[in-house]
This record gives sequence, C-alpha cells and structure tokens, in this order.
Amino acid sequence: MPYRWLTHLFRAGLISTFCGGLLALPAAHAEQTGESDTQEVLVAELAEDESVEDVEHSEPLRTSDQKAEEPAPAEPLAEEKAATDTTQEAGATEPHEPVTEDQSETTTEPEVPEQSEQTEPPEDQKEASSLEMLGATVPPGKATRLSWSPAIQGAGLSQPTPVLVVNGAKPGPNLCLTGAVHGDELNGIEIIRRTMYDLEPDKLSGRVIGIPIVNLPGFQQGSRYLPDRRDLNRHFPGSTDGSLADRIAQSLFQSVIRHCDMLVDIHTGSLKRTNLPQLRADMNNPEVAEFTRGFDRMAVVHSSGSAGMLRYAAIEAGIRAVTMEAGESLRIQEHQIKAGVNSLTSLMDKEGMISRMFVWGDPEPVYYDSEWVRAEHGGILFSEIKLGAKVGEGEILGYVSDPITNEQHPIRARSDGRIIGMAVDQVVMAGFAAYHVGTEAEVPGE
Ligand SMILES: [Zn+2]
Repeated sequence: MPYRWLTHLFRAGLISTFCGGLLALPAAHAEQTGESDTQEVLVAELAEDESVEDVEHSEPLRTSDQKAEEPAPAEPLAEEKAATDTTQEAGATEPHEPVTEDQSETTTEPEVPEQSEQTEPPEDQKEASSLEMLGATVPPGKATRLSWSPAIQGAGLSQPTPVLVVNGAKPGPNLCLTGAVHGDELNGIEIIRRTMYDLEPDKLSGRVIGIPIVNLPGFQQGSRYLPDRRDLNRHFPGSTDGSLADRIAQSLFQSVIRHCDMLVDIHTGSLKRTNLPQLRADMNNPEVAEFTRGFDRMAVVHSSGSAGMLRYAAIEAGIRAVTMEAGESLRIQEHQIKAGVNSLTSLMDKEGMISRMFVWGDPEPVYYDSEWVRAEHGGILFSEIKLGAKVGEGEILGYVSDPITNEQHPIRARSDGRIIGMAVDQVVMAGFAAYHVGTEAEVPGE
C-alpha cells in the first residue's frame, strides 16, 4: 500500500537522521493523499486543516545551516506600506503615549522588526519594556486592545480586526495566539478569550498577544474562507503584490506575527470530523519538539506542515509554532475549550510567564504516531466507538451500511491505539478517512 510505503520511508529517514538527536517520533497521520482524488472533491474540502499532503512534505531533520533565520531587519515592504498608510504617522510620532481602549481605531502600522530586542541582555537581566506594535505603545503591566487592518479595502470601509495584548509587568517571551484563521472554527476564539482575560498583567512575565478572529469576514459569514474563496492558511507569510489572501497574510505576518517568540495557531477539524484536543507539531524541529512539552495533557501528532501555513511560515521566521486542533468547526464545545485553555495555561507556566497554583494528575503531553483508517466501501457510516477510546488491533470501529443492499461492512483497527480523531456518522464513499488511530510514541528527549 502506498501510504504504508511512505510511512516506512519517512520513518527510516527520520530514524537515520536522528542518531543522537532529540527524538525518534515517526510520521504521524500518514497519507490522506487520497482525499485530493477527483471523485472526492467534497471530501477534500472537509478534510482537516493540516491533513492533506503532510507526509509528502515531511522531511528529515534540517541541518543547522538551513535553520530558519531571524527576521530580516528592514523589509522594503515597510516603506511601501508607509507610503500608502496615512494613519500610521500619529502612532509613530507619539511612541510613549499610553495605550487606552479607544485606540482600537488605529489602523495597520508598517512594522519594522525590532532589532533592538535581539541585542538586549538576557531575559533575567532585563526590565519589562513597552511593546510597540500596530501604531501603539503598550507599557508593562497593561492589558489593552489594539486593532489590525490589512489595508485591502477603501479606507472608509476598512474593518479593523481586534488584537488583544497583555504586556506583563515582568520581562519574558512573547506568546501569540491566533484563532479563526478559518472563519468557521469557533472553539479557538473562546480559548483565546478565556486565556487572555484570565491573565493578570501585574503577575505576567512577558507578553501575550491574541487575535481571536483572524479571518473576520469569514467569521461573519460562517465561512472557512476569505471573501475571494481562498484559504488564508495557505498563503503565509504572504506578499505585498499577490492575491487578496497573500496581502492579508503579509500584513498580519509583518504587523503582528513578527512580534512573537512563540505561536499557537488554534484550529478545529471539519464539521464532519472531530478530534481529541491535539497539537500538530513538526517534531523534526528540536525547538518545536521541546516547545510541545509545555502543553499538558495534549495529544501531540507529528506533522511538518506545508508551505503557506501560518505555523510553517512562523517556524521559517524563527518563531516556535504549533497548530492546536480543538473539536469541530461551527460549534462551541466546552470540553475542547477547557482542554485548550488548560493546555495554554500549562504552557505559560512552563515558559515561566505565570505560576499555576495547582496541577492535577498526570499533566504530560502524550505523543502519537498515527494513521487514518479508511472506509473500503461506500454507504452510511455508523461508529461503534467513541472519540478517545482505546482500541485493539482488529477491533471493529464501525460499519458502513449499504442502504440498498443491506450489506454491512465492518471497519477494523489495524493496530492497537487510541481514537484521536474520527468522522461523525455520515454518508461516505470508499476511501473516506474515518478513524484517526494514534499509537503512543516516545516522548522527545527521554
Ligand atoms: Zn482551520
């Protein structure tokens, strides 16, 4: 079977590249390539954010000279934008004005990556400093709301996107949280709201920058896509002279994402598939692998991602980044939201940004090697197991029932593992990826 072959090839590559390395976490949700078959166009649209083509894009560990570089200091696009942005002057000429809530009208500011921060003394010797972004200055110990506008509409029609900022009273890293890059993925919006409004600026070390709804037009229309039907999460880091999606991506990346040391981009599965709360992380990247250790109780599934994804572009820019997948689109799911908030809280604790009072049970993340089990027949899928269930090799996970002939086709687990993602009961065609079975893998560094 082709995907078996791919998986084995990938594993072999990984293991051989990893002698003495941090981990040997093999290929995760291998395959999913079938979903781009022409007969399954609809299914491809329903696929998870990061499912398609992941394995083809998985590569063994990059050598150090290929590692992502620090952001280039002065991007030409900053000047280009300055020329067209008339409102940025105000922000730029009053850098020390304290930020207040009513500054939410501020429009996009051209970002010159802050080089000064990179040459400052180590974290423990630093004082907390003001955060300058989006034409505003946020002093230490302050929580506020800014706004980002990608400058794609006429000035009078521009729709500012809220950006929540908490600048801690103490120095520390900058953590960015992005939600609803796909406008119909709602759980992340609430995860970010709860996380950010629980923070106490006086007690925070570092900054948390949250954009609960990145794709505001999509959100308002209940759509995954941008107004031009493009998927924003295929266009990062974007460009100033490309499509609408390229320009929005570029603006977000330069105005906000460049400020991040760490990024958690929160997504969901599709409406018809649901996931255990889980991270997608490039475990080939030692910094990312180490980063995942902060996320308590999350399932972590290896996925290199592919060009155009926000987390991929962020990693290329030297930012530690993962995707968090929490539940289904178009729904608000309390269990998934709680898991996301708890996990982000543990991350901030482990990064030294906050101190948690209590830690219950076994908080470590769990690493999975994974594989999708597909329907071999078309019909109606009825599941016998529930999300999160532990299953044994050969166990029946569900049936595909043929409504005309009354044939019942069982779908069986091909290995022992845990159901980390699955399709809800629905009409399926042969080849439909129905169950995502995870097998526990080694924890990096152990
Ligand atoms: Zn998504």
